[in-house]
Amino acid sequence: MSNKLNDIVLAVTLENAVKYGGRPNKGSVIGKVLFILPQYRGKLDEIMPIIDSVIKKVSGLSIEEQMTMLKQLEHILPKKDERIDELPALPYAEEGKVITRFAPNPDFVLHLGSVRPLLFSYLYARKYNGKFIVRFEDTDPRTKKPKIEYYDLILKDIKWLGIRPDEIYYQSDRLEIYYDVARKLIEKGYAYICRCKPVEFKNYISQGKACPHREETTKINLNLFDKMVNGELLEGSAVLRIKTDLSHPNPSIRDWPALRIIDTRKYPHPRSGSKYFVWPLYNFSCPVDDHFMKVSHVIRGVEHKVNEEKQAYIYRYMGWQPPYAIHHGRISIPDGVLSKSKILNGIKMGIYSGIDDPQLATLAALRRRGFKPDAIRNVIMRGGLKPSLSVIDWSLLAAENRVLIDKEANRYFVVRNPLKAIFRFNEDRHEIHIRKHPDFPDRGHRILRLNIANKYVNIFIDEGDKQVFIIDKKLRLIGLGNFIVSGYRSDGTIKLKYLDNDVAKAKRKRFPFIHWVPADDNIDVELVYPDRRVYGYGEKELAYEHVDSAVQLERLGYFRIDELKNNKLVLFFTHN
Ligand code: GLU
Repeated sequence: MSNKLNDIVLAVTLENAVKYGGRPNKGSVIGKVLFILPQYRGKLDEIMPIIDSVIKKVSGLSIEEQMTMLKQLEHILPKKDERIDELPALPYAEEGKVITRFAPNPDFVLHLGSVRPLLFSYLYARKYNGKFIVRFEDTDPRTKKPKIEYYDLILKDIKWLGIRPDEIYYQSDRLEIYYDVARKLIEKGYAYICRCKPVEFKNYISQGKACPHREETTKINLNLFDKMVNGELLEGSAVLRIKTDLSHPNPSIRDWPALRIIDTRKYPHPRSGSKYFVWPLYNFSCPVDDHFMKVSHVIRGVEHKVNEEKQAYIYRYMGWQPPYAIHHGRISIPDGVLSKSKILNGIKMGIYSGIDDPQLATLAALRRRGFKPDAIRNVIMRGGLKPSLSVIDWSLLAAENRVLIDKEANRYFVVRNPLKAIFRFNEDRHEIHIRKHPDFPDRGHRILRLNIANKYVNIFIDEGDKQVFIIDKKLRLIGLGNFIVSGYRSDGTIKLKYLDNDVAKAKRKRFPFIHWVPADDNIDVELVYPDRRVYGYGEKELAYEHVDSAVQLERLGYFRIDELKNNKLVLFFTHN
């Protein structure tokens, strides 16, 4: 009887009890347990005694106790929105035996393109009740230099997407494992230490010839390898190569390099400093890890197709079974730069403010702009794992996201590059109440306060509405009333004449509906768009929304509140 079964039965029973006011419903518990653990279908007599005893135990608890216990166990239940049943079956997948991994290089953060291998690896592990591993591929302290903050940021991105790794590994902790396999390969005669200069080696290999070191004795090779490991050889002076087919049609596969020296006294590794001098290349560490981590399925980009061929040598020489690999196409998004080097260069040159600059399609940037993780998951999931390029349009992402945030987002007025308007107001209405959300009256109203000084009221309107304010034009200021433009003052202030507050008439006569902000009761606002920053005023109550909430600025679109500093509210544009 596995612990997993017991835990699942307990978690399902608690969840069910809490849902039904403290009393678990046996039929639903059985159904859900079998849904999560389909391997027990047809083995009811095996699980019934457990279910019975757990139901008895849970029924004896108070609902508060049930809720507390559920909180601790809830994470083992599949999330309701994981939609794993929509995934097509994975070839060669066995229940409980699917082990997948996502293997980022911590020299950058995740972006939209990273989500595909990450999400599918995770979901397939969940679908088959297997295991999902995150493995940091950080064995290049020189050119793909890992940065300590990226490890954390990547984990933050993963968590933000609602993904929980079962295990996390760091390749930089595993060097002894790679050395061990390297020595075995030398002993078996499948690897050697090449001391050629790069041009010399290229010369040999382009002619399909062996370099002079290829046939040296095991003893010499082992000895040299130890020297490399002990830091006795200089960077670039020796490399461990895997013997392949010297006439392979792809020259990059001919005796490819597996481990090389990096002088960590010059290029210290952020996790292990100068402790190690020999570092595996991706094509070596990857199959070694996939093997020892018992990875059953690998989901990665098509750019790794040739690598698969290189890695196949390791599996063959070591007598290991390779995992089943799916190579999916790249993702591109118009104008959303997804190239690591372009982004890092852009940051250096000041084109981007940082990894979360709103022009970028990094997860950090999408998060800051107010995209919800589920919108990203839905878009990526819909695209599937096809090998061709997928172009994700911003409008697609916006459409998914709009559905998710529209209910949450309260409505407010913000005017950009404001223009002043003035009107005489005889009404005794000092407070204009407007619903926070048209569909949720219970959220109440926001109040725009009018300062009626000597019967005159000053307001601000959005610069973009300038063309509406031409003499004799009728319009409606939302919530306030119907007006006609009567003229301009010499300082440019627009003069309005109040007509009435008849909304039906305004609709019937198709008056433009214009938003506005009281001139004496507002807050400074900065709107951050991907390509520009715009300043203006917002209605005061906007400042009571929490940082991080989604709001809809009427007629401008959806925004995420980024911060309130020195009485100025900064909002990031999400989408229209
Ligand atoms: N670190 C590799 C990458 O980010 C992993 C590729 C793989 O999944 O094998 O592309």
